[in-house]
Amino acid sequence: MSSRLEGKVVLITGGGSGIGQATAIELAKLGAHLAITDVNLEGAHDTYRLCGGKPHYCGVMDVSSKADVELRVSEIVAGLGRLDHVFNCAGINPTSYPLTDTTDEYWDKLVNVNLKGIYLVTRATIPHITTPGGSYVNVSSICGLYPQAEQAVYCATKHGVIGFSKSMALELGLKGVRTNVVAPGYIDTPTNSGVVKGEEYVTRMEEGNSLGRLGTPEEVAGVVAFLMSEKAKYMNGSVVEVHGGLKMLES
Ligand code: NAP
Repeated sequence: MSSRLEGKVVLITGGGSGIGQATAIELAKLGAHLAITDVNLEGAHDTYRLCGGKPHYCGVMDVSSKADVELRVSEIVAGLGRLDHVFNCAGINPTSYPLTDTTDEYWDKLVNVNLKGIYLVTRATIPHITTPGGSYVNVSSICGLYPQAEQAVYCATKHGVIGFSKSMALELGLKGVRTNVVAPGYIDTPTNSGVVKGEEYVTRMEEGNSLGRLGTPEEVAGVVAFLMSEKAKYMNGSVVEVHGGLKMLES
């Protein structure tokens, strides 16, 4: 069984930064042909370049827009021929707010990107995953399993991702398409600043971690690549936690 993804066509959302970008680079090394998308076209272009350019594809796609998703998915399939795997990575990291300070706009933004975005992309791509061994990897978070105070909206979206994905696994498993979830802990990415704010906070998180440090995007990317590979062909509906051993989860 191979860990390679030679010639496999993989759509990545949120591929212009952080975990999505690191995963694109990892999958390109494993031989995949990528459709790198992001709401931030400049970021997507950077990733495209870091992956070596052609045969990959790069384009803007806002996962919260049905029209955008449907248009871009048909363009990708027309260009790359089909889809084998989808990495639903686009998301907004949390900002800590007491519930009474949380705005409707914040709710709409997080729900529309983190949760509805996965729904829209999944619905649009299902008809195009037609070859055996296809799969989805959806990004949740440790907050999708272990709630944090003052992050109710983010926690709700990331719990939702897990429920949605487990149902997907049951429905699409019958067609031979697997769905798994990656649930990262605190990963050092550019826009995680809503949580990782300042030295003191970072130190507190490092001290609360059994490995004594934050994770890197590359350490999540390796797990995503494994979940897509043939080596994980009996994994379906699994939630893989990638957090280095958070001490607060011990009790
Ligand atoms: P990141 O560096 O901010 O990357 C996310 C990318 O998604 C950005 O390029 C962002 O563009 C893009 N994006 C935002 N809204 C979008 C939309 N509507 N449509 C398409 N793309 C959109 O974040 P990250 O830390 O790598 O996080 C990636 C995923 O992992 C997210 O779902 C996040 O919730 C999850 N996660 C992260 C951590 C962590 O510690 N970093 C932990 C657990 C889970 P802009 O920069 O222009 O907004």
